[in-house]
Amino acid sequence: MTMAEPRMEGLKAELRKESRRVQLNFDELKSGGFIKQTQKDLFTVRLRCPGGRLTSDKLHKAAELAQKYGRGEVHISVRQSVEIPYVHYKDFEAVTKELAQSDWAVASCGPRIRVPTGCAGCTWNPNGLADTQAMCQEVDKRFFGTPTGHHKFKVSFSGCPIDCFRTREMDLGFQGMVEPRLVEELCNGCQLCVKACEESALHMEKDLPVRDLAKCNSCGDCIKVCPVDAMVVSRKGWLARVGGKHGKHPLFAYEVAGYLTEAQALNLIDKTMPWYREKGQGRERIGATIGRVGLDSYIDEVCRPLGLEVIVAPQERQKYWAGGNLYDGH
Ligand code: SF4
Ligand code: SF4
Ligand code: SF4
Repeated sequence: MTMAEPRMEGLKAELRKESRRVQLNFDELKSGGFIKQTQKDLFTVRLRCPGGRLTSDKLHKAAELAQKYGRGEVHISVRQSVEIPYVHYKDFEAVTKELAQSDWAVASCGPRIRVPTGCAGCTWNPNGLADTQAMCQEVDKRFFGTPTGHHKFKVSFSGCPIDCFRTREMDLGFQGMVEPRLVEELCNGCQLCVKACEESALHMEKDLPVRDLAKCNSCGDCIKVCPVDAMVVSRKGWLARVGGKHGKHPLFAYEVAGYLTEAQALNLIDKTMPWYREKGQGRERIGATIGRVGLDSYIDEVCRPLGLEVIVAPQERQKYWAGGNLYDGH
């Protein structure tokens, strides 16, 4: 070994340490909503937009910040966030300050409950069965940034079974659902409901529509088309799905409970967190945790204590739909 070699080794070790330090900072910045770009020293700043809903004032502010600190452009993320690319890290403090003055903030990433996403729901979409936007705002207010201890946690809301907000791919997804009921004495046998049902869940018997409970997906189309209000809403609520994710190794969520009230849906998010913190390992998503410890654990320890109408097995779906008496697993 020459005399210069130990010095070179020491220098390399220092560089490795420095590289780890910089990497750690990038991770921390991403966790705080500043995402490193390909371009040196430039970051994309992700803004907090629950349900993808923004006032025109905030849109103006985003445009102003993009002009001032970026390159005059914004990007709309797949999860409804407005992002400002090309922001130099030296401007982070100024951007954060200006956002705070407009009652706005950066959307943090990392192992936390993320900003909830959702469609327009019944606010202005004719298909909507539930108030997705109100839930997005409430979930953002109550849970945004809650540490999970393991990995990211995404919550989304879809207003109906068309499921535009992919609740099957979320850590917790909620979809609006409705149960139709026939008022026999009002029915004129026109069959419009049968024709409207895309699931072929209705057929006529003795001039009255009969529902195949196994096929019905709770969309409510039969209610909308009935000209004499003979098909009515028996009840509405949220279908809860847990354990979904997209990405390199996608998982399809488990349907765990039906007809949740808004309060029950919020409670489910709240009670899921300690279960996930306790049962999860390392950086696994909750779907992987459920896959490892079993769905029964989640159902028994989280859903049942909340008094939810649980769905235990897909093969029991027929019972699930039958007259609203959901399968309770026993
Ligand atoms: S999920 Fe249903 S309510 Fe929501 S946007 Fe799609 S069609 Fe409309
Ligand atoms: S709620 Fe939808 S799926 Fe169910 S019977 Fe009516 S139209 Fe068919
Ligand atoms: S659309 Fe209404 S009136 Fe016509 S068959 Fe269906 S329930 Fe009866």
